[in-house]
This record gives sequence, structure tokens and C-alpha cells, in this order.
Amino acid sequence: MNKPNIVILGAGYGGMMTTVNLQKKLGANQANITLVNENNYHYISTSLHETAAGTLHHDRTRVTIKDVIQSNKVTFIEDTVVSIHPDKKTVTLKKQELTYDVLVVALGFEMATFGIPGLEENAFAITDTDSSRLIREQIEYNFAMYHNEKEKTEGRLNFIVGGAGFTGIEFVGELANRIPELCKEYDVSRSEVRIVCVEGAPTVMPGFDEALIEYATNSLEARGVEIITGAMLKEVKPDGIVFEKNEELEEIKALTTVWAAGVKANSIVEQSGFETNRGKVQVREDMRTPDYDDVFVVGDCALIMNNETERPYPPTAQIAVQAAEVVAANVKAYIQDNEMHGFEPNLMGTVASLGHNDAIGSILNDRKIFGWKATVMKKVIDNRYYFKLGGIPLLLKKGKFNIFY
Ligand code: FAD
Ligand code: NAD
Repeated sequence: MNKPNIVILGAGYGGMMTTVNLQKKLGANQANITLVNENNYHYISTSLHETAAGTLHHDRTRVTIKDVIQSNKVTFIEDTVVSIHPDKKTVTLKKQELTYDVLVVALGFEMATFGIPGLEENAFAITDTDSSRLIREQIEYNFAMYHNEKEKTEGRLNFIVGGAGFTGIEFVGELANRIPELCKEYDVSRSEVRIVCVEGAPTVMPGFDEALIEYATNSLEARGVEIITGAMLKEVKPDGIVFEKNEELEEIKALTTVWAAGVKANSIVEQSGFETNRGKVQVREDMRTPDYDDVFVVGDCALIMNNETERPYPPTAQIAVQAAEVVAANVKAYIQDNEMHGFEPNLMGTVASLGHNDAIGSILNDRKIFGWKATVMKKVIDNRYYFKLGGIPLLLKKGKFNIFY
């Protein structure tokens, strides 16, 4: 192909790493690489729970895209993707239309609401920088309001988290650290505040190691988090939630409900007419869509089957980053008419934070870690990503050499 147009949609883990890998693999005269993203920054979604709780400033959880791309090789367009037309090889953005020879779809995840009444209107979600900042402001606003109203609004200082998967647990862990700081700042007694995590399954982090679940539960409950398991959230109202437990409906008053009970692929993928499975594109081994040879999908929009378990791999940054390496290599192979390779995730384990000073993890052949060791491991994983993305200059810029920072 003579200087083909490679277009990458979305600058999350999958899109950024595909771009960074491609700019290493291709010379400036070999292809036109275009990266499209709705913001001029790449947010580190694995840190959004900290932005949401207000324990880490959002500038520490995002990277300016121009700081990591080479402008002689990659054109960055700050715009929103509206639709993809694979039959015409075009992408409609809000402000313009693009044509491509090769497309990489990396538009990430959005909140899955499962049709729960009131959820979209009344709940907050940790999906990007803006939605996370809004949660931080909402929490702080309610603390600020507390002593400014003569008649106390019931539930003003009740904070509900729907779902105790990894996102829900990481968020309540941060919140459990942040609330005492806010109590001090706004002269509120800790006993006036509730953090309630409502989980539909019989345990938090269903399917994870039992001993680590117990450790996490103890760590959170010791900091005043109420965990209600076997409780399905049924409705979110402006002033509270309704959940079902033991076949009975119960209500908790709260002005703040954060929904962390599941994600789905960006709906643009399904709307654009790709063959989908659970809203995602079940990619071929080489990460292309089943129906278009010139379209690759990476990250949470891609469904990758685990042939051993016959279940899809979970949507994670870990897999998005690994897959991006193969996608970049295969895009190069595709435009140069070379052989492509298959992608097989190499799972390195899972580490989840429980606040800035506690964590749990299961790594390398199910070795369990917790406490400071897991906290350090989480920082190492985060820093490794920054290094892959922008090398030592980015690590230095983000102050990442201090692992306790
Ligand atoms: P995303 O990271 O979702 O990025 C998508 C990009 O596309 C964004 O830049 C977005 O702005 C852009 N975009 C979206 N729509 C449009 C549009 N219409 N037009 C233009 N641009 C658009 N996984 C792990 O492996 N380890 C962890 O520790 C971990 N922690 C997590 C913590 C939290 C709080 C959350 C929410 C998730 C966590 N995950 C973790 C999961 C991980 O974040 C996702 O799997 C990962 O972000 C998926 O990467 P992605 O590239 O597919 O998309
Ligand atoms: P998830 O789907 O993994 O967990 C959602 C949780 O919400 C489940 O426990 C589910 O039982 C519960 N739930 C669903 N509907 C409910 C309802 N109506 N009421 C109450 N509970 C309900 O979603 P997630 O935690 O957002 O994670 C998304 C992906 O991101 C996963 O693949 C996860 O592994 C990954 N992730 C990883 C990390 C990490 O590695 N540290 C951190 C966050 C997220």
C-alpha cells in the first residue's frame, strides 16, 4: 500500500499504546497515522476512582496526548467520533469526516445500566475524568452544605456505591480514606456519615480469592464502610436507593449514589453495524473484526474468547496494553502484505487498591499479596505503564519515581 491512512479511534490504553507502538514501527513516509480522541489528554482510567474520591488530583491521572506522540508521524485530531461506516471506509466525527485504509477501534467502555429505573438520571459513574471530577465535587458539596441548612436533609452525608466489583471496592477504599479528611475540614462528626456498598452477589469481588476477599472486607469495614451483599440495586431515586435483599425491598436515603456495577463496550461499535456479541466485536485471533479485513479492535470494545474456559476474558487495561502490541504489529504487517500474528493474553494477575495505603493482589501463579507489598506492587504496575507509554521523561514529568507519592 502506498502511504496508507491508518486511523485510530480513542486514546485510552488500547488506542494510545497502538499509536505509540506504531510510531516506533513505521517511518514518517510509510503511513499517515491519525489518532482521534474527544479530549486532548489520555486519562489513566485505572486511577479514576482516586479522582472520584478526591484523593488524587485529576492532572495526576491524565497525560497530554501531544507529550507522547511524535508529531512528524502522528496527526492528532481532538474531536468526537459519531459513527463508523466500514462499508465506505469512513468515520464521521462531529467536525469532519475521515477516510481510512486501516482502522483501529479503541473507543473503550461506558456504564452498563441494565435498564435500572432512575440510574441514568440519578446516579454518578466513574467512566472518565469529567464524570469522576463531578463525583468529587458532589461529595464535597454535600459536606459544605451540611452546616448550611437549618433542617438537615436526610441522606445528605450517605454515600452509596452500587456494585462491589474491583471498581466499587477500589472506590470505597479511597472514600474510606477521604471521608475523615472531609469530616475534619467541614467540622462534621464521622458518625454522621455513611459509606454503603451494595453488592448483588453473595460476596464482594465475586470469583476472586476468598482469603483476599476477607482481607478486603475487614480492611474496609474497619474504616467504617458498610458492605451489604446479596443485595440487588433496583432503583435509584434523587434522594435514595431501593435494593432487594432476601426477596424484600429496602430503601436507603442518600443524595449521592455512585454506580460501579458494570461496564459495556462503547455503543458506537454496535451502532456502526459491526457483527457484535454482547455489544463487543468478537475479534479474530489477529484482532480484526469478523467481517472487515481492514478494521482492528482493541481494548474494552473487543471480545476475546478464552479457549480454555470458553468464556470471554474480562475487560482490563492489562489486556488492552498487551493486545495493542499485537495490533500495531499486525497493522504494519497488513499494510506491507506480511503475515499477521495471533493474540493470546498473558495474565499477570490482579492487584486492587483499598485506599492509598492498603491493597490486595493475586499475582504470578496465584501468589497472594496484601498490605504494603500489594500497595507497592500496584504502584510498580502503574509506573510500568507510564514507562511503556512515554519512557523515563514521562515518569519524571509525572513524579512517578517516588512510589509512595
Ligand atoms: P478506555 O480507557 O475507556 O479509553 C477510551 C478512550 O476513547 C478515551 O480516551 C475516551 O475519551 C475516548 N472516546 C470514547 N468515546 C469517544 C468518542 N465518541 N469520540 C472520541 N473519543 C472517544 N484494568 C486493569 O487491568 N487494572 C486495573 O487496575 C484497572 N483499574 C480500573 C479502575 C477503574 C476505576 C476502572 C473504571 C477500570 C479499571 N480497569 C483496570 C479497567 C480498564 O480501565 C479498562 O479495561 C481500560 O481502560 C480499557 O481501555 P480502552 O483503551 O479500551 O478504553
Ligand atoms: P464488574 O462487572 O467486574 O463488577 C460489577 C459488580 O457489580 C459485580 O460484583 C456484580 O455482581 C455487581 N452488580 C451488578 N449489578 C448489580 C446490581 N443491580 N446491584 C448490586 N450489585 C450489582 O465491573 P467493574 O468492577 O466496573 O470492573 C470492570 C472491569 O474492569 C473488570 O474487568 C475488572 O476486572 C476491571 N477492573 C480491574 C481493576 C483492577 O485490576 N484493580 C480495578 C477496576 C476494574
